[in-house]
Amino acid sequence: MSSTLHTFLQKSEQKAFDAEHKRKLLFNIGKYNDTVVKGKQQYADLEYVRKKVKNLKWKAIENLDKYLIEFETNFTANGGKVIWANDDKEALQEILKILQKKDTHSVVKAKSMASEEIHLNEFLHQHGIESIETDLGEYIQQLDGEPPYHIVTPAMHKSKDDVAKLFNEKLGTSLELTAEELTLVARERLRDKYLKAEVGFSGANFILPDIGGIAITENEGNGRLSTSFPKTHIAIVGIEKMLTSVNDLTLFWPLLATYGTGQRLTVYNTIFTGPKKEIETDGPEEMYVILLDNGRSKLLAETRQREALYCIRCGSCLNACPVYKNIGGHTYGTTYSGPIGSIISPHYKGMEEFKHLSYASSLCGNCTEVCPVNINLHNLLLYNRNDSVESGHTTYTEKMIWRMWKRSMLNRKKMEKPNAAIKNLFLKMVFKNSWGSRREMFKIAPRSFYKQWMEKHPPQE
Ligand code: SF4
Repeated sequence: MSSTLHTFLQKSEQKAFDAEHKRKLLFNIGKYNDTVVKGKQQYADLEYVRKKVKNLKWKAIENLDKYLIEFETNFTANGGKVIWANDDKEALQEILKILQKKDTHSVVKAKSMASEEIHLNEFLHQHGIESIETDLGEYIQQLDGEPPYHIVTPAMHKSKDDVAKLFNEKLGTSLELTAEELTLVARERLRDKYLKAEVGFSGANFILPDIGGIAITENEGNGRLSTSFPKTHIAIVGIEKMLTSVNDLTLFWPLLATYGTGQRLTVYNTIFTGPKKEIETDGPEEMYVILLDNGRSKLLAETRQREALYCIRCGSCLNACPVYKNIGGHTYGTTYSGPIGSIISPHYKGMEEFKHLSYASSLCGNCTEVCPVNINLHNLLLYNRNDSVESGHTTYTEKMIWRMWKRSMLNRKKMEKPNAAIKNLFLKMVFKNSWGSRREMFKIAPRSFYKQWMEKHPPQE
């Protein structure tokens, strides 16, 4: 058993039976479910929009090579600089070069899952550079020394009281502060950081090839502050964030808002097309976009699972997933959790180590139903399982069990030969480790259905 699987199983067991964890998680998901219904009311024909955006993402991903070049050409013409990073190491080295050139001591960072993916904060810390998260949820998580718990709501597993306790321990504030007061504390602490930071980091929700820009959507305004106060803006963007044109935003922005947080439109929607122009007073003097591959090309090469690259990171499939709702975000041990994380992580980080995530699903199909881009999520999990078996990532015992099962199923006489007691003993042995101590093992009936049927309907001579 791989160490990642072992940790996954241990944490799953722990979280699934942690009643307090579940209470907080279900409370927050419940709030999401209530608001998302309201957000959907803005659509006269939601299904039409879902189909349309899927087609647009299909076009963008099928022509990704062309759109990336188009973006680079236009963004460079706007005065921006593009860096291509094959993996996390390349991205980090390029970032370090820029930061060292600018003698950087502190940076501010807007919410960016791509930066989580390359472990930017840890890397900067190792090089003596202070990196401060400016999104409230991310700020809370950073204070607590935890990675984000959810791709949209990073501190979803924490209650208001948990945050008050954390602020009390780390910042010395009163335990009695309200949610608004806690937000004000974070805001006050962050203001100074924006002013001091030499470099600001962000991710991007979408890449706009025709205008050479990136689009960022957020609710707190911290994204704008992080990217316009510092003299340099570095955006780390996964290459799959591509759209076909700026015009696509008319569909993608409201859809992401609706499925992400139940809003009609997120509060701040910004398009960045490069550093500030001579006639402009605000904005960075230099802007870089790091186009991050880090396994995406590998996924692009998989014709069956490629559509996972259409994901707009709304988090809806996480909120709908019965597995996520039981084990929570951190158990996955990956940057991207829930159904979409279980699909892409084996391709980004290695099938052998992360294949178990594709099996951690009931295949109920709820994820597919709630995905705004109509990604066939539960089928993609099956394709991953298929790939994993085809590539030989199965144990000898598993292979033997399936071989025996197949033989018995194809031969009624063989199946009927051992009595129920022997069959039950066999099942106990086979599922000894995987069945779990909290579930009662099912029992084979003393007389099989076949036997009972044959007794009632003996074959005619
Ligand atoms: S796979 Fe679909 S539902 Fe899940 S995060 Fe991506 S866009 Fe949202």
